[in-house]
Amino acid sequence: MRILVVEDDVNLNRQLTDTLKEAGYVVDQAFDGEEGHYLGEGEPYDAVILDIGLPEMDGITVLEKWRGAGKVMPVLILTARDRWSDKVAGIDAGADDYVTKPFHVEEVLARIRADPACCRTCKLRNRLRAGTVGYQGIQALVNGVALKLTSHEFRLLSYLMHHMGQVVSRTELVEHMYDQDFDRDSNTIEVFVGRLRKKIGNELIETVRGLGYRMQAPGMANKEVKS
Ligand code: CA
Repeated sequence: MRILVVEDDVNLNRQLTDTLKEAGYVVDQAFDGEEGHYLGEGEPYDAVILDIGLPEMDGITVLEKWRGAGKVMPVLILTARDRWSDKVAGIDAGADDYVTKPFHVEEVLARIRADPACCRTCKLRNRLRAGTVGYQGIQALVNGVALKLTSHEFRLLSYLMHHMGQVVSRTELVEHMYDQDFDRDSNTIEVFVGRLRKKIGNELIETVRGLGYRMQAPGMANKEVKS
């Protein structure tokens, strides 16, 4: 597996690189955003570790450019503890996972090591690759065709996909879809689920009576789905 490490902190970059190499990975290093972007766009990496605060070009921009160019490799971003907005921006830009600084290098390794891809969401994407629904950055695809989703619909889809096969309650969805100031009426979730089903197909989101919703992996959709 070939991994790109984009981190301007020379010591941290070296620590990450050494640890990954010791674990048997092939590692390329970049120390600023432009160099990282160039490498990531041109070389076939199996995973990228990308710092957000970078000289020349920030990590979010690098990631957006990769995703915009159709690069789908798993990307794990490194964010500062006090910059929660970076995590949100990173996930919105198409990051698969994040690690908050300061971290143990072993933690990053553990996330990368999970086979075959770097993390939970990467595995999810691998599962979806063979199926009908996938998403990349903030774009959702059905059979390779981009969907027009509102931000709420996208958040709903993304949350259900991250918990594929599990029952997710309306309360949980409300908590993960809205900020605290939002009027948390769980009935609106039903409305969003209804709209989403119209766009991605009824069979993918199952209603579990009294409990919530469950997203089925493509190809395994329950025939008894209610809309
Ligand atoms: Ca940095």
